[in-house]
Amino acid sequence: MSRYAQVIIDISHGRLDHPFTYRIPEALRPAVRLGSLVNVPFGKGSTSREGYVVAFSDTADYPDEKIKEITGVAAKGSSRTGDSMVQLAAWMKERYGSTMVTALRTTLTARKEAKPVEKREVRLLLDEASAREKLSFYEGKHQVARARLLRELMEIPTQPYSLILSKLHVTAATMRAMKEQGVIEILTTTSLRNPVSLSNVEGNLLHLSKGQQAIVDGVIRDFDAITAARAAGSETGVPLVSLIHGITGSGKTEVYIRIIEEIVKRGRQAIMLIPEISLTYQTLIRFYRHFGDRVSVMNSTLSEGEKSDQFERARRGEIDVIIGPRSALFTPFPNPGVIVIDEEHENSYKNESMPKYHARDVAVEIAKIHGGVVVLGSATPSLDSAYHAKRGDFRLYELGERLTGGSLPDVDITDMRSELRSGNRSILSRKLSALLEDRLAKKEQTMLFLNRRGFSGFVSCRSCGHVMKCPHCDVALSLHRNGKLICHYCGYETPNVHICPECGSKFISGFRAGTEQIEEEIHRRYPAARILRMDADTTAQKGSYEKILSSFANEEADILLGTQMIVKGHDFPGVTLVGILLADLSLYSNDYRASERTFQLLTQAAGRAGRGEKPGHVVIQTYEPEHYAIQYASRQDYEGFYNEEIAYRNALMYPPVYHMLAVQIQSRNDDYAQMMAGRVRELLDKITKGINAHAGTIPLVLIIGPAAASIWRIRDEYRYVVYIKCAKYDTLVDCKDRVEAYASAVQENVHGAAIQVQFDFDPMNPY
Ligand code: ADP
Ligand code: ZN
Ligand code: ZN
Repeated sequence: MSRYAQVIIDISHGRLDHPFTYRIPEALRPAVRLGSLVNVPFGKGSTSREGYVVAFSDTADYPDEKIKEITGVAAKGSSRTGDSMVQLAAWMKERYGSTMVTALRTTLTARKEAKPVEKREVRLLLDEASAREKLSFYEGKHQVARARLLRELMEIPTQPYSLILSKLHVTAATMRAMKEQGVIEILTTTSLRNPVSLSNVEGNLLHLSKGQQAIVDGVIRDFDAITAARAAGSETGVPLVSLIHGITGSGKTEVYIRIIEEIVKRGRQAIMLIPEISLTYQTLIRFYRHFGDRVSVMNSTLSEGEKSDQFERARRGEIDVIIGPRSALFTPFPNPGVIVIDEEHENSYKNESMPKYHARDVAVEIAKIHGGVVVLGSATPSLDSAYHAKRGDFRLYELGERLTGGSLPDVDITDMRSELRSGNRSILSRKLSALLEDRLAKKEQTMLFLNRRGFSGFVSCRSCGHVMKCPHCDVALSLHRNGKLICHYCGYETPNVHICPECGSKFISGFRAGTEQIEEEIHRRYPAARILRMDADTTAQKGSYEKILSSFANEEADILLGTQMIVKGHDFPGVTLVGILLADLSLYSNDYRASERTFQLLTQAAGRAGRGEKPGHVVIQTYEPEHYAIQYASRQDYEGFYNEEIAYRNALMYPPVYHMLAVQIQSRNDDYAQMMAGRVRELLDKITKGINAHAGTIPLVLIIGPAAASIWRIRDEYRYVVYIKCAKYDTLVDCKDRVEAYASAVQENVHGAAIQVQFDFDPMNPY
């Protein structure tokens, strides 16, 4: 047992971000582990603080009487996992440029011991015969939601309340009604155990297709090779990562399940990352069927207490599989063997606050630490992953067609410029109007998707051009239905104006949020059509999101009109037409990923049509019909898109061919921020001069800026950015280290107005 612990104090201050030595009192020794959160006296007054234990030692560099003692343990951590989490945090600090304490807070997310929390479950009360009778009664009365829930409960009689609400789209009111009829009961439990106990539900016995089986075999072969090499203390040379490229419905999830099953059989655990919005009820149930109460699901509706419950169960070895968003990476499993990342191209896998990590890279690091594998899957792989697969760093597997039938939709591109030339001023092209009328007549459903970035709802003066802006941020305010002007960056609110504050003109007015405007137009043209609108306004209220989706699923509406939110993960078999309004790119062309995003979005939106038995049709409306992203998306030609896009990235030195580091400098004092940005540039020039001297005509390292960030001011902070591009990631890490050291030295000399320097490797969004 060690006598001393090295502790990182849990305070965000650059200067304190190194370990302090504390003595561990005899009594606390068994409880203090790597990664434990401990109470320590700190500073002049020996104020009690919390800190993370990152190392142990038997000797100390100071005289013993100067060393203070740990006074308590706030959260135990785990003897088996603390070690790897501290190691992971150290890697994150180095790779992404954050403080150690921020990295520790990220990897050791399980905090204080949690109190048991209440959970609700829904249980079927009827026996099989009466359930069947009730079902035909509901179906006879067209009580679609009740029938849907009953059908699912007849398969699995007890299910989590929240799952039914959020993923089966059955409302609380419907469940209440069924409870009053004595069909179901709603139970409240307060234990750590999983809401679903399905250990006895028989596994799904699908016979894998040849293609699926080959992937499972391949991944497991790699896994076993890695395990064997590790046991022998040697290297394998086998790729850690496999990428499965397959359209939605091609059987990827089934492959994930089988791989996880095999790895769990080998005594290891699995982390399955999935963008929450695309996690469907059906998928969850499939996991429950295979893993029963050994699987746990993390989602945003869980409280902090529930989340740490899940982590506690993982630590104790009570579960083998966790499904969740990127933070599920930090589940304290004793020995994770596989990390699956579904829809790996999704932006939500990048953490946009410090440390700005990408789940894919962290997954690979975890696999390295434990000797495991990573499986990525997508219908439209990120350019990054496809590039690695092409180079042979990742294994690539392809899955062909949809297994459930349902043909791929027909896709039409309509040129909105020629619509205008022909005198069509409507927001709907003639083609889309014709198809919409046809669907309304046939009583089939339509989804209309608006690329919201095109409409911001700002207020401007038609006399002088003045735009109403946030006084704290360099952005236009948005006009909301409640008559207020709102800043989407800082939440600033002010009543709308009717007289221009600049010139006094009365001709100041707002362009209302796009979806509202479209709803009105469709309503005018098709008064009988039942329209549901889904956007930030209509979903602001708790539960309204579920309500809208449930009512669309119940076929209570003909048209679902909405923003990004409606594109992903919802299977509505009644939808046979998808319209993409304004698929335009030019509006955000300062983002080098704009084409990739557009391609993915269009491909996904197209995938929403024709999920049921009837074939689907997709109309893409655009002002740039010849743009390659739109062309390739309409033909579902991933390969073609990849080749053209990668050539562009290569020519302009963008990721994934090159790496890019954004150094963001911000301060409340604009002069300080500008001065610092200039100094950062000078420093980088100095550092890279040596490297570039040997690089011939093409510089190995390219530095751009400083420039004012695209939003120059947010919350009264002035922001500048310097970009560095280089094919070698390590060179960028060196640059980061030097800038970091320089910035903290400068900080000491600047009083009053702090300057913050932040790093973002391979940024996903423009600054
Ligand atoms: P993806 O994850 O690629 O969307 P899924 O694994 O969800 O694909 O499969 C799509 C559908 O096909 C699901 O309903 C699933 O149950 C079914 N399916 C998957 N694999 C098979 C198989 N080998 N045989 C029959 N049906 C399958
Ligand atoms: Zn004006
Ligand atoms: Zn603001």
